[in-house]
Amino acid sequence: MSGTEMKLVVVGAAGRMGQTVIRTINAMPGAQLFAAVERPGSAFIGRDAGEIAGLGPIGVAISDKPLEAFVEAEGVLDFTSPAASVEFAGLAAQARIVHVIGTTGCSSGDDEKIKAAARHARIVKSGNMSLGVNLLGVLTEQAARALGPADWDIEILEMHHKHKVDAPSGTALLLGEAAAKGRGIDLASQSVRVRDGHTGARVAGTIGFATLRGGSVIGEHSVILAGEGEQVTLSHSATDRSIFARGAVTAALWARGQKPGLYSMLDVLGLS
Ligand code: NAD
Repeated sequence: MSGTEMKLVVVGAAGRMGQTVIRTINAMPGAQLFAAVERPGSAFIGRDAGEIAGLGPIGVAISDKPLEAFVEAEGVLDFTSPAASVEFAGLAAQARIVHVIGTTGCSSGDDEKIKAAARHARIVKSGNMSLGVNLLGVLTEQAARALGPADWDIEILEMHHKHKVDAPSGTALLLGEAAAKGRGIDLASQSVRVRDGHTGARVAGTIGFATLRGGSVIGEHSVILAGEGEQVTLSHSATDRSIFARGAVTAALWARGQKPGLYSMLDVLGLS
């Protein structure tokens, strides 16, 4: 198998990320677009995936039959919705292939099902597939460890385009988890996701989130560590979706050689 191009299926092929992933596979050595899948009822079923992605015809028609594609393929690249990604994880486990999940907004129940599927599939899941954000996560963990909760407050600010449906972003949560790890605390019980009205003073040691939505912003994230008389800001700007798509294809190629299990981009990038 090694030495040959990895046969990849793109699910959500007509979406913003799906189209970007198709263009990226076309440009990256070692990967081949084997099939493209959209949701049943989509107007794109039967259309050429390359044409939809702006490449011109490539002879891969978009289908609504994921399992048929998975059993013949080696990996799935998935930027869809939580319900779809849970379904695809089960099918990837059945087919015993690689499943790269970029979908965000998964509930803890969804994550449990994905973890169960990883007994048979090689799953890489991350709220952000870019090298820059994963490095930012490592730096955030270090900063949160060095700048303690008695004197430093941590706030995470993000902005995305107006079509985004989940909040805070998967990346904001990834950065929150990194900060919580640095502080040795549990993010779920220590985070402040919304503030409105008379909230009272800030509780020391919590991690706050603020969400902005508008226009066509691909992804802006800042981790602000605010102390008495000084502030440290760590930030990342995404200006092109191809950073996520390159990360996803890199993850698939990496996972091809791994045992079944649930991995993150930190494993792929050697940052764990
Ligand atoms: P989008 O709405 O443009 O695309 C999603 C596509 O998935 C749509 O075309 C939709 O029809 C398709 N889809 C939904 N259910 C399906 C099913 N059952 N079978 C096949 N296709 C199905 O959204 P987008 O901007 O491309 O983002 C998709 C997801 O990826 C979001 O959760 C977003 O937050 C996430 N995202 C993650 C990263 C990362 O690096 N991890 C980067 C960008 C976006």
